[in-house]
Amino acid sequence: MIIKLNKQIGEEELEKIKSEILKNNENVRVVVNESQNEKILGIIGENKNVDVSSIQENSNVLQICKIDEPYKLANRKVHPEDTIIDFGDGDKVGADKIMMIAGPCSVESEEQIVEIAKRVKEAGATFLRGGAFKPRTSPYSFQGLKYEGLELLKKAREATGLKIVTEIMSSDDLEVFEKDVDVIQVGARNMQNFDLLKKLGKSRKPILLKRGIASTIEEWLMSAEYIMSEGNQNVILCERGIRTYEQMTRNTLDISAVPLIKKMSHLPIIIDPSHAAGIRWMVEPLSKAAVASGCDGLIIEVHNNPEKALSDGKQSITPDMYDNIVNQLKPIASAVNRVI
Ligand code: PEP
Ligand code: MN
Repeated sequence: MIIKLNKQIGEEELEKIKSEILKNNENVRVVVNESQNEKILGIIGENKNVDVSSIQENSNVLQICKIDEPYKLANRKVHPEDTIIDFGDGDKVGADKIMMIAGPCSVESEEQIVEIAKRVKEAGATFLRGGAFKPRTSPYSFQGLKYEGLELLKKAREATGLKIVTEIMSSDDLEVFEKDVDVIQVGARNMQNFDLLKKLGKSRKPILLKRGIASTIEEWLMSAEYIMSEGNQNVILCERGIRTYEQMTRNTLDISAVPLIKKMSHLPIIIDPSHAAGIRWMVEPLSKAAVASGCDGLIIEVHNNPEKALSDGKQSITPDMYDNIVNQLKPIASAVNRVI
């Protein structure tokens, strides 16, 4: 349920309404947000005992409406303004500047990650990706350098200033990730690992939540809700293609997820054209479509020697290709009032 209030409502009046809502309602939480013209109270949780008629009597109450969707905190009705994640040093996600994440699928060596970090930074990236803990379909495939990989990512950050985006596979590693990583990625395969999501909800680190391999948009938003309901509102959604009957591409990029998410939610959404396509040459056209669709960022796999990559070489582009793509994206970004 949401209660729209006169924006000029005083603190005391607001508190009165909040305590009226919370009276005899142990499982209810109230969140306060603002739109251009109103203050919005979101009533989250079991709210059937809330006495609507007595709240309605307050002259500051403009409207009370039910939220039919199961996601509440992630719902734009509860939080009309776009969420902007502020890193506190000028970097923001969800504002004008498009989040440009680039780097290899896996961290392989110091030389590899530092070299790629330098090259993608020169091309315009502000975040470095690189898997240290890799979710591989086969247990016999390269599983990542794990903690050593995190150390190498830190070296690349030191050398370039790029922030680190890397995937967490187990909540046992959360303490290390809290300390060493700037954005914690939840991979497609873990999108519904609810125990992991709840633990990430206790953190305040931005969480990059990839869409599950065959998840609906509602299921994806419910996973965001798991993180947010534990307190962490810093969620970035990432569309990375979904499994369909089509075999020509690794996955099918669901570009309609961008306008849909923008309508339904206030959370930023970025696109991963690399895992969507699975093919190097397709990263460029999909990136263009993504920026034109109004997404808030791109996460792209870049490798200095794609043929020799230990994972996802086929979809990895070279630093030169990345540089070329970024240049082509700049006018598209400006056409949708964004910058790269
Ligand atoms: C990745 O980013 O390397 C990755 C494994 O992605 P996804 O979880 O989308 O498959
Ligand atoms: Mn990959």
